[in-house]
Amino acid sequence: MYSIRLWTVRHARLLEHVYRIFEPVIVKLQPLWNSVGYQRAEKPVSMVEKFSKELLFDCKMCGQCILSSTGMSCPMNCPKSLRNGPCGGVRANGNCEVKPEMRCVWVEAWDGSQKMKGSDKIHVVQLPVDHSQKGSSSWLRVARNTSDSTQDSKSVSK
Ligand code: SF4
Repeated sequence: MYSIRLWTVRHARLLEHVYRIFEPVIVKLQPLWNSVGYQRAEKPVSMVEKFSKELLFDCKMCGQCILSSTGMSCPMNCPKSLRNGPCGGVRANGNCEVKPEMRCVWVEAWDGSQKMKGSDKIHVVQLPVDHSQKGSSSWLRVARNTSDSTQDSKSVSK
């Protein structure tokens, strides 16, 4: 798993490209999510999300995915769950102070982000993780948020 995680960071640009294709598909499926109901869709979608993202990123299903801002390195693999950069304990070789055999998640995040088109997204200050969202699907959240913001902008323009 760890070697796959390192591979995804090395290929962050490719995965960014794949996600840019995938995200509009999830959003366009809005009528399906609406007809099934978000609550009912949650279980099967989060199962698929968990399976694929655990395999690729060692995803912990925090429910608020920020992989596209962190060079495809999941910040929830940081033993301190830091979502805004590394702590002061990064070793001279770039490894974690808590898990010396592991590269610091944020050293990886920086490397991955520099390969991506959206490399500046790593500078965005992230909100603290909301643990009440744990286990839920980030994909469905993106679909719902995009649809809500589209409806908001339509009602403003009326
Ligand atoms: S940021 Fe959250 S949803 Fe994204 S890969 Fe990490 S644990 Fe999973």
